[in-house]
Amino acid sequence: KESDGKYCVTLIEGDGIGPEISQSVKDIFSAANAPIKWESVDVTPQLIDGKTSIPDAAIKSVHKNYVALKGPLATPIGKGHVSLNLTLRRTFNLFANVRPCKSIQGYKTPYDNVDTVLIRENTEGEYSGIEHVVVDGVVQSIKLITREASERVLRYAFQYAQDVNRLKVRAVHKATIMKMSDGLFLRVANRVAKDFPQVEYDAELLDNTCLKIVTDPTPYNDKVLVMPNLYGDILSDMCAGLIGGLGLTPSANIGDECSIFEAVHGSAPDIAGKGLANPTALLLSSIMMLQHMGLTEHADKIQNAIFKTLAQGTTITGDLGGKAKTHEYAAAVISNL
Ligand code: NAD
Repeated sequence: KESDGKYCVTLIEGDGIGPEISQSVKDIFSAANAPIKWESVDVTPQLIDGKTSIPDAAIKSVHKNYVALKGPLATPIGKGHVSLNLTLRRTFNLFANVRPCKSIQGYKTPYDNVDTVLIRENTEGEYSGIEHVVVDGVVQSIKLITREASERVLRYAFQYAQDVNRLKVRAVHKATIMKMSDGLFLRVANRVAKDFPQVEYDAELLDNTCLKIVTDPTPYNDKVLVMPNLYGDILSDMCAGLIGGLGLTPSANIGDECSIFEAVHGSAPDIAGKGLANPTALLLSSIMMLQHMGLTEHADKIQNAIFKTLAQGTTITGDLGGKAKTHEYAAAVISNL
């Protein structure tokens, strides 16, 4: 907290539509008098010794402020580049990725009562980046599951369930096939559950979860789903589809010390620079950030204005069937504050 009563937060505007949607967040926060001072940092990748890394100033800023809001980062294509998103997750040990999906009133989708919360292990699994060619035409990719990372994300999920009073945790897995790796995740889940007697716990096979959520999402409205990395990536996009797409879904990357909040979507190069992007996903991520910081009054005020604007349906962006430009939608949210 600064001497003027504001909290300094690192802002990574990102690539593609990143600067446009970040501008909406800045404008709306300023109109709502949210006590946030943005510290913009550049994360243009630097190639050092053939490896992509994030500029030191950006890392220092996040370490100093503990909290960051991040726009999408395009993954450079080519040899020697690893995903900057992965690099950020590793640098700040952002071990849990929280992805809520809630139906938006006024925006018609096949189900109007979706309310899922998914927590994804964020550091290992198939995303460990261990791949090699065995012989020509045969490639091996290693899925790494550790007791330590599993326990960390599972404990977080149970604690989260308790904190937000959503007292049912379900571990999603495929231990019938991946008996050792998912088996370990499941065994840890069974054990961690015993430390949270007030939280109901069960487990479900991933394919079963997919089938059941798209058939009827209602039974998931009171649960926190927790799962290894790749399953969380895919299942959360499926849930995003149920509520109207990537323009609407926020996320929080939680670490031991620092947390980075970001939209689930990418840099959308197909619409970048045209003022067509929907800033709602990044806005809702910034709401999760305010809640994480304990600034719930400001979070509620901005969130209500967003939901009111979407429910009115007159000034919404193209992905939701409207005609409004990014800045026109932001102005409508401001007028609803
Ligand atoms: P994408 O999410 O950028 O786009 C998929 C589709 O959704 C596109 O048609 C796009 O126009 C649309 N879309 C996405 N966000 C939108 C918004 N806010 N408003 C309206 N429409 C929106 O996925 P992609 O095209 O596969 O990836 C593009 C780049 O983003 C890649 O370089 C990828 O690596 C990167 N990426 C970054 C992140 C991140 O930073 N967390 C996540 C995913 C992808």
